[in-house]
Amino acid sequence: MLSEKNIAIVGGGPGGLTLARLLQMKGAQVKVYERDFSQAARVQGAIVDLHFDSGLKAMEATGLMEAFKANYMKGADKYRLLDPQGNMLMDESQRDEEPVFGDEHFRPEIDRGALRDLLIDGLLPGTVVWDSQLIGLREIEDKWELKFENGMTAAADLVIGSDGYRSKVRPYLTDLKALYSGAAIIQGEIDHPEVACPEMYELVNQGNLMAMGDGATLVVQPRGDGGFTFYAASMYPENWGISSGIDFGNPIEVSGYLKKHFANWNPVFFMLFEASEHFTWRPLNYFPLSIRWAYKSNLTLIGDAAHLMPPNGEGVNLAMLDALDLCACLTSGRHANLKEAISAYEDIMFERAAPLCMETIDGIKDFAAPTNESVKELVRSLSNTKS
Ligand SMILES: Cc1cc2nc3c(=O)[nH]c(=O)nc-3n(C[C@H](O)[C@H](O)[C@H](O)COP(=O)(O)OP(=O)(O)OC[C@H]3O[C@@H](n4cnc5c(N)ncnc54)[C@H](O)[C@@H]3O)c2cc1C
Repeated sequence: MLSEKNIAIVGGGPGGLTLARLLQMKGAQVKVYERDFSQAARVQGAIVDLHFDSGLKAMEATGLMEAFKANYMKGADKYRLLDPQGNMLMDESQRDEEPVFGDEHFRPEIDRGALRDLLIDGLLPGTVVWDSQLIGLREIEDKWELKFENGMTAAADLVIGSDGYRSKVRPYLTDLKALYSGAAIIQGEIDHPEVACPEMYELVNQGNLMAMGDGATLVVQPRGDGGFTFYAASMYPENWGISSGIDFGNPIEVSGYLKKHFANWNPVFFMLFEASEHFTWRPLNYFPLSIRWAYKSNLTLIGDAAHLMPPNGEGVNLAMLDALDLCACLTSGRHANLKEAISAYEDIMFERAAPLCMETIDGIKDFAAPTNESVKELVRSLSNTKS
């Protein structure tokens, strides 16, 4: 079905790169058009954990598992959960048994940049076309012309949008826009936490630190380059990032706001705010998945471009699983033509993502604005699951 066909994947995130690798393993002609200027552009965000039946399953299928094992961050999957006063509620760093690959509960963490690099290394040279920010598509008969911001164009028989939550491919399938979940994150970056906030550095202990309660959640994660990324989540009115008047480009102003917002918390957490050199305001949006778009024979979406949802630990995993399922539908020989293959993939993708998105939206307050009682309940349920 794919012979003599040019496939354009727009966006070289985890979904797009996994798909490119899987399709190339089947002999397909693939290009990945990525807006970053080069591979050296720093990938935003900290670590991501891959799950047994999704991200790791897709990674296994790429044949790059050995490279993954050489690059994952040992021990970074261990959680510490604190209350706002800094009391330890759970501490996985004390656990006796270490999970191993093959154990369905093992969720190894990897730096996003390392994940991107190992997926790119698995592609044929020249597959990723850098500095290619898609600005629009034009359908000419049953093919596509892709137009890029740098003035270049490209032609493709099949376009797959894996260009994330602000997808420029998505409008050619649906005009459904993202909705605001009610929660937002202020993301901070600390390049040298061992010097800038040594007490927090000790507390994070190269694992995942979460502090929850009093209407807020704080997550601190190590990055592969030794830095920290942290996320401060709460419920905010829509567009609060603008209406608050806070200049998110001014670290002193943001840090001042966060210290007031977390005024009842143990001041040990303030070190994070004071040490952050860079902040980003991230409203958490989602695509409503109850309404579907009409199938096309030459266009589809994977990952966030298809089913953006607030962070629930599944986003990268779902994007990679979409890639696995789309590749299987396109290459299994079970479908009569491209439209049937794409419709089979989209059915699987929607059936998986829609309930997960709904669950995440229903539980958004438990994540972004937990009460001290709801955190105790969470600890009780986690302890019961483990025992
Ligand atoms: C704060 C936060 C924390 C998260 N934590 C986790 C986690 O722990 N685990 C997890 O599984 N998920 C997590 N997620 C979700 C996860 O980041 C996404 O679901 C995942 O990255 C989606 O992968 P993707 O390949 O679909 O898109 P993306 O990762 O968004 O990749 C899109 C790619 O397309 C490129 N691009 C964008 N526009 C264009 C264009 N016009 N032309 C060309 N290229 C373009 C981008 O540069 C990028 O490389 C988190 C999300 C947030 C916001």
